[in-house]
Amino acid sequence: MGSRDRRLGMDRAISRRDFLNGVGVVIGASLAPACARNEGPIAAAPAPYYPPAATGMRGAHSGSFEAAHAAVTGRRWQADRFDEHYDLIVVGAGISGLSAAYIYRRDVDPNASILLLDNHDDFGGHAKRNEFTLDGRTFVGYGGTMLMEAPKTYPAVAKQVISEIGIDVDRYSESPHRKLLKSLGLGPVTFFDKETFGADFLAAGGLWYTEAMADAPLSPRAKAELARLTADEEDYLAGMTPAERRAIVESLSWRDYLEKYAGVGDEVLTFVQKWSHGVWAIGADALPAWMAWLEGYPGFAGMDIGYLDEGDEGDENGEAEQGGNFYFPDGNASIARLLVRKLVPGVAPGDSMADIVSARFDYSTLDATENPTRIRLSSTVVDLRHRDGQLDADVEVTYVNEGKARTVTASKVVWAGYHAMLSHVCPDVPQEQAAAQGNSVRAPLVYLSVLIRNWRSMAKLGIQRVYCPGSFFHTVMISHQASLDDHEPSQSPDEPVILHLQQIPLEPGLPAAEQFRAGRRSLFEMPFETFERNVREQLGRVLGPGGFDPARDIAGITVNRWPHGYAYSVDAKSGDVAWSPEYWRHEGRPWIDARQSIGNIAIAGTDGSSNAMTESAIEEAYRAVQSLVTADAV
Ligand SMILES: Cc1cc2nc3c(=O)[nH]c(=O)nc-3n(C[C@H](O)[C@H](O)[C@H](O)COP(=O)(O)OP(=O)(O)OC[C@H]3O[C@@H](n4cnc5c(N)ncnc54)[C@H](O)[C@@H]3O)c2cc1C
Repeated sequence: MGSRDRRLGMDRAISRRDFLNGVGVVIGASLAPACARNEGPIAAAPAPYYPPAATGMRGAHSGSFEAAHAAVTGRRWQADRFDEHYDLIVVGAGISGLSAAYIYRRDVDPNASILLLDNHDDFGGHAKRNEFTLDGRTFVGYGGTMLMEAPKTYPAVAKQVISEIGIDVDRYSESPHRKLLKSLGLGPVTFFDKETFGADFLAAGGLWYTEAMADAPLSPRAKAELARLTADEEDYLAGMTPAERRAIVESLSWRDYLEKYAGVGDEVLTFVQKWSHGVWAIGADALPAWMAWLEGYPGFAGMDIGYLDEGDEGDENGEAEQGGNFYFPDGNASIARLLVRKLVPGVAPGDSMADIVSARFDYSTLDATENPTRIRLSSTVVDLRHRDGQLDADVEVTYVNEGKARTVTASKVVWAGYHAMLSHVCPDVPQEQAAAQGNSVRAPLVYLSVLIRNWRSMAKLGIQRVYCPGSFFHTVMISHQASLDDHEPSQSPDEPVILHLQQIPLEPGLPAAEQFRAGRRSLFEMPFETFERNVREQLGRVLGPGGFDPARDIAGITVNRWPHGYAYSVDAKSGDVAWSPEYWRHEGRPWIDARQSIGNIAIAGTDGSSNAMTESAIEEAYRAVQSLVTADAV
């Protein structure tokens, strides 16, 4: 280890696992014996088994994806037959799978026996909780699904489920912590890095052009362009009809539109490239210009491009009705935990949306024989098929746990995994449907939770969040700090806090779907050490001027890698990604054909609506359950 690494603190003992070429070695934690009450023993579990507290490489962690990858490339297993039959087996214990189990019990059979199988060592899917303990205090963050976006506008089914599990979206507000940050003068800033822009420079006062950028490492021309884009007052398509404008914004990426019509040069194009990473997991080079318009990104001066002519009347009360977003401290992992607490009696104490945040879950009860609903983790389904190929017969479900394959059976199955995998493990999927499922595509994302011992440097520099257009992580921010009854956020800059960092692995220049595939490949190859070094380096450079020392101040790092992240679909004819399904005006919506049930197998999950949102996960669960009991559900 060189002196630079030592300065960064690469030798420091922090809360993490060390990873060598992606293979996890748990340091300092004993390997738990197979949990006595679990028939499916859980691998490499720290004792007592409590996966939210595991740090290091999480999300698609080592051990969670290998069997699935082998299955889609043709591997088959000799399975032991287990004498277990369930009324319902749900594949995938993300929000959709958990909702399917909940809705089945509520609407179909309150006494049903249900088994959920998930390949991860924790439930929740993308809605994953990250926990750290420092000096006896527990800090909670989100490893994926972060928030409910405007839950007051959720469709009826999702609204009802959310309410039934105890969430009152009126009850909570993030504002106390926001107010604290505001009172301390913290806000968004931009960090220019020397490799991309020629010098490290922190521009305070906002994310787009601010007075502070007068000294930024940008040419006078670029500053003028950025100021012009920030003001966003020019109509670059002046004199054109809405239809002509529309033809232009539908044919160009946001980047190409800005270059061609707003006349901005390379420096500003570099500045905007990662602007859309956080929301859409794609850069300006592949984000359609009309999507940038829809998002209100600069360059359009509020121009009419004709979309409102198509029956969308707009809604002047929309803002008020929409209300705000809703954050639990661990993001939507709290929704998963509330669902599990409903499904598995005794798994956790408490009965409210507030006490769910600090409720300690007893994972040993998840798969207990006496439970009407059982959750079996670290279990990847590698084969499912109707007995003797008869679509009205029971379904045989084979899963791999710790390298061993077992077959169990069910009267009904909900597949709440991914469309793209299903036909590889289920011979009952008709060919045309398999082709439709093959159009689903997933964007890779990485969310990091980094526990720091204090945020004095951020208070000193006035930073709440940083946009870093040229750096490894495009976003660094103080994680959303929700106040709920027995959970208080970090109250002062002298206290520890979890930072949230994002990285979207892409290959700019390629079509979006290919960028996702390339990003996914690189993500599986990237070891924890690369993330750690970049965390230390980038935080040191951004926050160093405020006194931050990465070797001293970083207390824990959790990397949540999601190679199969946001659910999208590709139109087979055009090759376009359907970025926003409700605006998808091409004839084909392949996800509708793709999600049809097959005999006793129904399909849930966000691929079913090509919409990576929690409300879709719940709505799709409802549709899937309905399709098992009625003939005409689609
Ligand atoms: C980083 C990130 C941030 C996000 N942020 C938000 C947000 O803030 N708000 C929002 O509304 N949405 C967000 N989303 C979208 C998110 O996908 C949905 O909100 C929702 O959590 C998806 O739930 P799901 O159950 O459909 O899928 P998942 O959460 O992916 O769950 C599916 C589960 O099934 C498992 N599985 C798949 N195949 C098999 C198999 N063969 N055997 C066993 N198990 C299997 C998967 O591994 C996974 O655990 C985010 C997504 C990501 C990746």
